[in-house]
Amino acid sequence: MKSYRIAVLPGDGIGPEVIGSAINVLEAAQCKGCFRLDYAYGEAGSGVIKKYGTNLPAGTVKILKGARACLKGPMTTPEEASAPVSVAVQIRKMFDLYANVRPCKAYPNAGGREGVDLVIVRENTEGLYSGRERKIPGGAVAERIVTKRASRKVALFALRLALARKRKITYVHKANILRMTDGVFSRAVLSVAKAYPQVRVEGMHVDAAAMQLVKDPGQFDVIVTTNLFGDILSDEAAQVAGGVGLAPSANIGTSYGMFEPVHGSAPKYAGKGVANPIATILAARMMLDYLGEAKAGKLVENAVARALEGGKALTKDLGGNASTGKCAEAITGLI
Ligand code: NAD
Repeated sequence: MKSYRIAVLPGDGIGPEVIGSAINVLEAAQCKGCFRLDYAYGEAGSGVIKKYGTNLPAGTVKILKGARACLKGPMTTPEEASAPVSVAVQIRKMFDLYANVRPCKAYPNAGGREGVDLVIVRENTEGLYSGRERKIPGGAVAERIVTKRASRKVALFALRLALARKRKITYVHKANILRMTDGVFSRAVLSVAKAYPQVRVEGMHVDAAAMQLVKDPGQFDVIVTTNLFGDILSDEAAQVAGGVGLAPSANIGTSYGMFEPVHGSAPKYAGKGVANPIATILAARMMLDYLGEAKAGKLVENAVARALEGGKALTKDLGGNASTGKCAEAITGLI
């Protein structure tokens, strides 16, 4: 029987609750498949800074490096300039997870716009999140780094993904203003796309894309864009599809994948059993696909859709009253 070692970081706030739910669903899914998941739990997040002096202790880094993939819960990121860099950003850099993949799909009964089924692929290693900020007299400057190499890599990922979907990519930029940086990005996408004549390619300014996502989200298949634009557009698209409680994400590199919900640690809901675990469950589903266990992934996806349709998985954010545990139980019961 195949087995995969998975690093699990429960994180802060609602993290342990939603990760626990996703693990229960994964347990049910692996019983139906012919593989085993071997979990290695690691401490990380703002909750461990006092104990270790860092949000990503060396022991956890060892666990991450010994695993095939990581299932990560949301973590609180302190905003003081002296605080450690976000754990997600550290892991992305550590494994060069260059593509951030965020599917936005409307599920039955979940309040999203019918027919929405798109994926936002965001360049994950540079752009305005380069981490290069410095003070200048009277203010501060952030460097927006866009390289041909990283743009081509993420474009290739998006094109291959589109090939397996509705065969359309929209590259989102602001090259009319950010002429140099988004000029590099746009030219890189168009050059890589020449090898994929089966995929329809269109360009769109980021402000127009923000508007079109609300006006006519059904027009999109795969959106590819730079780091900050993708971060913002994917939260918007998640809301159009039903809310951040349903939105998973994958961070993919050449030899590692990290899977997490799009949402944060929602501290006000921590420990109350009201958080929606579906985003994390769908992130675990993306991990199954990444591991090559697509059949088990499909089982999870179908169980989520049916549990939402039947009403038993509707948590407070979706207008229902299912607790975190009951929602996960409804999904597990349908696998
Ligand atoms: P958030 O996503 O934690 O919460 C925003 C709002 O969304 C919450 O008030 C809640 O109403 C709702 N929400 C989020 N997740 C939900 C869920 N599973 N079920 C039901 N409702 C849910 O965003 P925030 O308040 O901006 O950030 C809180 C903390 O999380 C910050 O420290 C931030 O840095 C961190 N954060 C971490 C990640 C990550 O670990 N990848 C991502 C985003 C934010």
